Amino acid sequence: DTNERYAVVTGANKGIGLETVRQLAIAGVTVILTARNDKRGTDAVASLALPNVIFHQLDVLDDKSVQSLVDFISKKFGRLDILVNNAGASGVAVDEDSLRAMKIDPTSWLSGQAMNAVQGVIKTSYHTAKECLDTNYYGVKRVTEGLLPLLELSTNGGRIVNVSSLRSELRRIPSEQIREELGDIESLTEQRIDKIVDSFFHDLKHDMLEANGWSMMLPAYSISKATLNAYTRVLAKKYPNMCINCVHPGYVDTDINWHTGTMTVEEGAKGSVLLALLPDGGPTGCYFDRTEVAEF
Ligand code: NDP
Repeated sequence: DTNERYAVVTGANKGIGLETVRQLAIAGVTVILTARNDKRGTDAVASLALPNVIFHQLDVLDDKSVQSLVDFISKKFGRLDILVNNAGASGVAVDEDSLRAMKIDPTSWLSGQAMNAVQGVIKTSYHTAKECLDTNYYGVKRVTEGLLPLLELSTNGGRIVNVSSLRSELRRIPSEQIREELGDIESLTEQRIDKIVDSFFHDLKHDMLEANGWSMMLPAYSISKATLNAYTRVLAKKYPNMCINCVHPGYVDTDINWHTGTMTVEEGAKGSVLLALLPDGGPTGCYFDRTEVAEF
């Protein structure tokens, strides 16, 4: 059916992703709700109770899982119209032991705190940073590369929405060199972006993040989303017939920030839904702060 639109949303078993599925489905799109965990995914589909939402497993870290989703969509629909890369990892772990030592219950304390109050009890390790970059940057690339051939068959040109964060904004990175490299759209390539990721891990390993001017507020998360934005721009240049954008959803009350966020998921999904449903000739290669175009 050429009038039908088909969408994939990643990391959609909860939070902004689940709400994005709901809003797209209500707009008439057939949505494949994906999650890395079968039970969490099928429970989420059941919770929506909408006829045009179906489940397929997708772990963005796993090549085989991506291939299985690609095969499923090719057989069932023969094309894809919308990809929302929503799955994300924070790059930090809460130091629950030190909270408990202070006789503080981590879950109830974190919820409702301001982010800067939380800074003291969250830690970036090599492991959490690796998971973050693998999910938010390499995971998006893996899923996008797998699904691009199906998006190219879209009758409306294809839409890719990369869920980013205001932590990605270049003005928040102290190093002028890193800001310039990531912001120089003329000479940006995927290889150059990958090299920036490598130098981040080098500096993390050698305890040189601050000295070399990386953002110290959620360092792994910030660079994962800044590199995601850069990738979005490179891709938008390469596929001029599609609308490929990235978006900060707002500061939303979800698990990723231990419910320190202040906006509802209904508000938080608005940007992703707007960009998923852009008309032909709509903006591409842009960064949105919720529903407005903003500076990278
Ligand atoms: P949630 O923690 O509620 O959702 C994150 C989702 O990502 C979960 O469904 C999680 O699955 C999934 N996920 C994590 N790793 C993988 C993986 N390897 N494969 C597939 N799915 C995975 O947080 P949000 O809804 O807030 O986050 C959605 C997006 O919004 C993220 O990209 C986040 O960075 C971004 N964002 C959120 C902000 C906020 O204030 N909430 C602000 C700025 C950006 P599981 O349940 O299995 O862990």
